Amino acid sequence: MYAPKDKPEPLIPVRLDLDSSFTFSCEKEMACFTKCCKDVNIMLTPYDIIQMKHALGLASDEFLFLYSAPSIIEGTELPVPVLKTDSQAKTCPFLLDSGCSIYNTRPLACRYYPLGAGIFHNSDAFSEERFFALISEPHCLGHSLGKERVVRDWLKDQGIEQYEKANAGWVELILKRKSLGPFVNIPEKTLQMFFMACYNIDSFRRFVFESRFLDVYVVPDERQREIAGNDLALLELGMEWLKTTLLGGGEIGIRQHISEVVD
Ligand code: SF4
Ligand code: SF4
Repeated sequence: MYAPKDKPEPLIPVRLDLDSSFTFSCEKEMACFTKCCKDVNIMLTPYDIIQMKHALGLASDEFLFLYSAPSIIEGTELPVPVLKTDSQAKTCPFLLDSGCSIYNTRPLACRYYPLGAGIFHNSDAFSEERFFALISEPHCLGHSLGKERVVRDWLKDQGIEQYEKANAGWVELILKRKSLGPFVNIPEKTLQMFFMACYNIDSFRRFVFESRFLDVYVVPDERQREIAGNDLALLELGMEWLKTTLLGGGEIGIRQHISEVVD
Protein backbone atom coordinates (compact mmCIF):
# COMPACT_ATOMS: atom_id res chain seq x y z
CA MET A 1 0.00 0.00 0.00
CA TYR A 2 2.81 2.44 0.74
CA ALA A 3 4.86 1.85 -2.39
CA PRO A 4 6.59 5.21 -2.84
CA LYS A 5 5.53 5.66 -6.44
CA ASP A 6 2.35 4.41 -8.04
CA LYS A 7 3.99 3.44 -11.34
CA PRO A 8 5.34 -0.12 -11.74
CA GLU A 9 8.36 -0.59 -9.48
CA PRO A 10 11.32 -2.90 -9.79
CA LEU A 11 10.37 -4.80 -6.67
CA ILE A 12 12.74 -7.57 -5.77
CA PRO A 13 10.39 -10.57 -5.58
CA VAL A 14 11.30 -11.49 -2.04
CA ARG A 15 8.71 -11.17 0.63
CA LEU A 16 10.16 -9.64 3.76
CA ASP A 17 8.72 -9.61 7.25
CA LEU A 18 9.58 -7.47 10.26
CA ASP A 19 12.58 -9.63 11.15
CA SER A 20 13.97 -9.90 7.61
CA SER A 21 17.24 -8.21 6.79
CA PHE A 22 18.27 -6.24 3.72
CA THR A 23 21.35 -4.31 2.69
CA PHE A 24 21.10 -0.54 2.24
CA SER A 25 22.70 2.82 3.01
CA CYS A 26 21.84 6.37 1.97
CA GLU A 27 24.40 9.16 2.44
CA LYS A 28 24.72 12.71 1.09
CA GLU A 29 28.15 11.86 -0.32
CA MET A 30 26.73 9.26 -2.72
CA ALA A 31 26.75 10.08 -6.44
CA CYS A 32 23.04 9.27 -6.61
CA PHE A 33 22.11 11.80 -3.88
CA THR A 34 18.53 13.15 -4.50
CA LYS A 35 18.00 11.11 -7.67
CA CYS A 36 15.23 9.29 -5.81
CA CYS A 37 13.40 12.64 -5.42
CA LYS A 38 13.08 13.11 -9.20
CA ASP A 39 10.51 11.39 -11.40
CA VAL A 40 8.35 10.68 -8.35
CA ASN A 41 4.67 9.96 -7.88
CA ILE A 42 4.03 9.98 -4.16
CA MET A 43 0.68 9.15 -2.61
CA LEU A 44 -0.01 11.25 0.50
CA THR A 45 -1.57 9.74 3.60
CA PRO A 46 -3.73 11.69 6.09
CA TYR A 47 -0.90 11.99 8.60
CA ASP A 48 1.56 13.09 5.90
CA ILE A 49 -0.67 16.09 5.19
CA ILE A 50 -1.12 16.96 8.85
CA GLN A 51 2.62 16.85 9.45
CA MET A 52 3.60 18.74 6.31
CA LYS A 53 0.99 21.49 6.58
CA HIS A 54 2.08 22.17 10.16
CA ALA A 55 5.73 22.32 9.12
CA LEU A 56 4.91 24.72 6.28
CA GLY A 57 2.53 26.87 8.37
CA LEU A 58 -0.39 26.21 6.01
CA ALA A 59 -4.02 25.28 6.43
CA SER A 60 -4.83 21.87 4.95
CA ASP A 61 -6.77 23.33 2.02
CA GLU A 62 -3.85 25.66 1.21
CA PHE A 63 -1.46 22.71 1.33
CA LEU A 64 -3.70 20.63 -0.94
CA PHE A 65 -4.02 23.51 -3.43
CA LEU A 66 -0.30 24.23 -3.57
CA TYR A 67 1.24 20.79 -3.29
CA SER A 68 -1.19 18.08 -4.31
CA ALA A 69 -2.92 16.65 -7.37
CA PRO A 70 -5.94 14.33 -7.32
CA SER A 71 -5.64 10.59 -7.79
CA ILE A 72 -7.50 7.39 -6.93
CA ILE A 73 -6.45 4.58 -4.61
CA GLU A 74 -5.81 1.52 -6.74
CA GLY A 75 -8.63 -1.03 -6.69
CA THR A 76 -11.15 1.47 -5.28
CA GLU A 77 -12.87 4.67 -6.31
CA LEU A 78 -11.55 6.34 -3.15
CA PRO A 79 -9.77 9.65 -3.78
CA VAL A 80 -6.23 10.32 -2.60
CA PRO A 81 -3.93 13.31 -3.09
CA VAL A 82 -0.52 12.77 -4.66
CA LEU A 83 2.38 15.17 -4.35
CA LYS A 84 2.27 17.73 -7.16
CA THR A 85 5.48 17.77 -9.18
CA ASP A 86 6.62 19.90 -12.07
CA SER A 87 5.24 18.46 -15.29
CA GLN A 88 8.60 17.97 -17.03
CA ALA A 89 10.99 16.18 -14.69
CA LYS A 90 8.39 15.25 -12.03
CA THR A 91 10.76 16.57 -9.38
CA CYS A 92 9.50 16.81 -5.82
CA PRO A 93 8.68 20.45 -4.92
CA PHE A 94 10.55 20.07 -1.63
CA LEU A 95 13.84 19.09 -3.19
CA LEU A 96 16.77 21.53 -2.82
CA ASP A 97 20.36 21.06 -3.98
CA SER A 98 21.17 20.36 -0.35
CA GLY A 99 18.49 17.64 -0.12
CA CYS A 100 14.97 17.41 1.27
CA SER A 101 13.75 20.74 2.67
CA ILE A 102 11.09 19.02 4.80
CA TYR A 103 13.14 16.01 5.88
CA ASN A 104 11.69 15.83 9.41
CA THR A 105 8.15 15.79 8.04
CA ARG A 106 8.78 13.92 4.75
CA PRO A 107 5.91 11.68 3.64
CA LEU A 108 5.55 8.08 4.69
CA ALA A 109 6.52 6.80 1.23
CA CYS A 110 9.87 8.61 1.48
CA ARG A 111 10.42 7.13 4.94
CA TYR A 112 9.76 3.61 3.72
CA TYR A 113 12.06 3.81 0.70
CA PRO A 114 13.70 1.47 -0.37
CA LEU A 115 10.99 -0.73 1.10
CA GLY A 116 7.48 -1.15 -0.21
CA ALA A 117 4.79 -2.36 2.19
CA GLY A 118 1.39 -4.00 1.97
CA ILE A 119 -1.21 -5.90 3.95
CA PHE A 120 -2.61 -9.32 3.15
CA HIS A 121 -6.15 -10.18 4.23
CA ASN A 122 -6.10 -13.81 5.34
CA SER A 123 -8.87 -16.05 4.06
CA ASP A 124 -10.65 -16.04 7.42
CA ALA A 125 -11.21 -12.28 6.73
CA PHE A 126 -10.54 -11.48 10.39
CA SER A 127 -6.77 -11.38 10.38
CA GLU A 128 -4.25 -9.42 8.39
CA GLU A 129 -0.59 -9.82 7.72
CA ARG A 130 1.91 -7.06 6.93
CA PHE A 131 4.56 -7.73 4.36
CA PHE A 132 7.39 -5.77 2.82
CA ALA A 133 9.40 -5.91 -0.39
CA LEU A 134 12.64 -4.33 -1.46
CA ILE A 135 12.60 -1.68 -4.22
CA SER A 136 15.79 -1.69 -6.22
CA GLU A 137 16.08 1.03 -8.88
CA PRO A 138 19.10 1.27 -11.19
CA HIS A 139 19.97 4.84 -10.15
CA CYS A 140 20.08 4.03 -6.43
CA LEU A 141 23.55 3.07 -5.26
CA GLY A 142 22.39 2.44 -1.70
CA HIS A 143 22.00 -1.30 -2.23
CA SER A 144 25.48 -2.00 -3.49
CA LEU A 145 27.16 0.28 -0.91
CA GLY A 146 24.88 -0.65 1.94
CA LYS A 147 25.14 -2.24 5.32
CA GLU A 148 22.83 -4.85 6.79
CA ARG A 149 19.48 -3.61 8.18
CA VAL A 150 16.51 -5.31 9.78
CA VAL A 151 13.05 -4.23 8.59
CA ARG A 152 11.78 -3.69 12.14
CA ASP A 153 14.73 -1.37 12.93
CA TRP A 154 14.28 0.51 9.64
CA LEU A 155 10.65 1.31 10.49
CA LYS A 156 11.73 2.58 13.90
CA ASP A 157 14.68 4.61 12.64
CA GLN A 158 12.56 6.28 9.94
CA GLY A 159 9.81 7.26 12.40
CA ILE A 160 7.30 5.11 10.52
CA GLU A 161 5.50 3.70 13.56
CA GLN A 162 3.76 6.98 14.50
CA TYR A 163 2.59 7.36 10.88
CA GLU A 164 1.21 3.81 10.82
CA LYS A 165 -0.60 4.41 14.09
CA ALA A 166 -2.11 7.70 12.96
CA ASN A 167 -3.12 6.25 9.55
CA ALA A 168 -4.55 2.99 10.92
CA GLY A 169 -8.21 4.03 10.58
CA TRP A 170 -7.63 5.22 7.01
CA VAL A 171 -5.93 1.94 6.06
CA GLU A 172 -8.81 0.01 7.61
CA LEU A 173 -11.33 1.98 5.52
CA ILE A 174 -9.40 1.26 2.32
CA LEU A 175 -9.13 -2.46 3.07
CA LYS A 176 -12.83 -2.64 3.94
CA ARG A 177 -13.72 -0.82 0.72
CA LYS A 178 -11.61 -3.25 -1.29
CA SER A 179 -13.23 -6.23 0.42
CA LEU A 180 -16.70 -5.00 -0.65
CA GLY A 181 -15.74 -5.64 -4.29
CA PRO A 182 -16.26 -3.62 -7.47
CA PHE A 183 -20.08 -3.86 -7.62
CA VAL A 184 -20.73 -1.70 -4.57
CA ASN A 185 -20.89 1.96 -5.58
CA ILE A 186 -20.13 4.75 -3.16
CA PRO A 187 -22.13 7.94 -3.80
CA GLU A 188 -20.18 11.00 -4.95
CA LYS A 189 -21.19 12.92 -1.84
CA THR A 190 -19.75 10.21 0.41
CA LEU A 191 -16.51 10.26 -1.58
CA GLN A 192 -16.30 14.01 -0.99
CA MET A 193 -16.82 13.42 2.73
CA PHE A 194 -14.09 10.78 2.64
CA PHE A 195 -11.68 13.25 1.03
CA MET A 196 -12.47 15.98 3.52
CA ALA A 197 -12.18 13.85 6.68
CA CYS A 198 -9.01 12.09 5.49
CA TYR A 199 -7.03 14.88 3.88
CA ASN A 200 -8.56 18.30 4.49
CA ILE A 201 -8.57 18.27 8.26
CA ASP A 202 -9.14 22.02 8.77
CA SER A 203 -12.17 21.88 6.51
CA PHE A 204 -13.43 18.84 8.43
CA ARG A 205 -13.07 20.79 11.69
CA ARG A 206 -15.26 23.59 10.28
CA PHE A 207 -17.75 20.96 9.17
CA VAL A 208 -17.90 19.43 12.64
CA PHE A 209 -18.34 22.72 14.48
CA GLU A 210 -20.26 24.80 11.95
CA SER A 211 -22.75 22.28 10.49
CA ARG A 212 -25.36 20.17 12.31
CA PHE A 213 -22.76 17.43 12.85
CA LEU A 214 -22.82 17.74 16.65
CA ASP A 215 -26.65 17.66 16.63
CA VAL A 216 -26.56 14.35 14.82
CA TYR A 217 -23.49 12.57 16.22
CA VAL A 218 -22.68 12.04 19.88
CA VAL A 219 -19.33 13.70 20.64
CA PRO A 220 -18.80 14.26 24.39
CA ASP A 221 -17.78 17.78 25.52
CA GLU A 222 -14.29 16.69 26.51
CA ARG A 223 -13.70 15.19 23.07
CA GLN A 224 -15.05 18.34 21.42
CA ARG A 225 -12.47 20.40 23.32
CA GLU A 226 -9.74 18.00 22.23
CA ILE A 227 -10.61 17.98 18.52
CA ALA A 228 -10.93 21.78 18.49
CA GLY A 229 -7.15 22.09 18.67
CA ASN A 230 -5.70 18.68 17.89
CA ASP A 231 -5.58 17.45 14.30
CA LEU A 232 -4.71 13.88 15.21
CA ALA A 233 -7.69 13.59 17.58
CA LEU A 234 -9.89 15.10 14.87
CA LEU A 235 -8.56 12.60 12.32
CA GLU A 236 -9.53 9.77 14.67
CA LEU A 237 -13.05 11.16 14.93
CA GLY A 238 -13.17 11.50 11.15
CA MET A 239 -12.21 7.87 10.65
CA GLU A 240 -14.88 6.73 13.13
CA TRP A 241 -17.41 8.90 11.34
CA LEU A 242 -16.45 7.47 7.94
CA LYS A 243 -16.68 3.93 9.27
CA THR A 244 -20.23 4.77 10.31
CA THR A 245 -21.24 6.50 7.08
CA LEU A 246 -19.22 4.41 4.63
CA LEU A 247 -19.37 0.97 6.18
CA GLY A 248 -22.07 1.12 8.81
CA GLY A 249 -19.72 -0.18 11.49
CA GLY A 250 -18.30 2.81 13.31
CA GLU A 251 -18.45 3.41 17.05
CA ILE A 252 -19.65 7.00 16.89
CA GLY A 253 -23.13 7.41 18.37
CA ILE A 254 -25.95 8.83 16.25
CA ARG A 255 -28.72 11.02 17.70
CA GLN A 256 -30.75 11.40 14.50
CA HIS A 257 -30.81 9.90 11.05
CA ILE A 258 -27.49 10.26 9.22
CA SER A 259 -29.04 11.89 6.14
CA GLU A 260 -29.82 15.01 8.15
CA VAL A 261 -26.14 15.89 8.41
CA VAL A 262 -24.89 14.89 4.98
CA ASP A 263 -27.77 16.42 2.99
S1 SF4 B 1 21.10 5.99 -2.06
FE1 SF4 B 1 19.13 5.73 -3.07
S2 SF4 B 1 17.72 6.65 -1.58
FE2 SF4 B 1 19.76 7.43 -1.07
S3 SF4 B 1 20.02 9.34 -2.22
FE3 SF4 B 1 20.85 7.70 -3.50
S4 SF4 B 1 19.07 7.18 -4.82
FE4 SF4 B 1 18.25 8.26 -3.06
S1 SF4 C 1 9.61 14.91 0.32
FE1 SF4 C 1 11.81 15.06 0.55
S2 SF4 C 1 12.52 12.92 0.56
FE2 SF4 C 1 10.46 12.92 -0.29
S3 SF4 C 1 10.71 13.06 -2.51
FE3 SF4 C 1 10.47 15.15 -1.72
S4 SF4 C 1 12.55 15.92 -1.40
FE4 SF4 C 1 12.66 13.68 -1.56
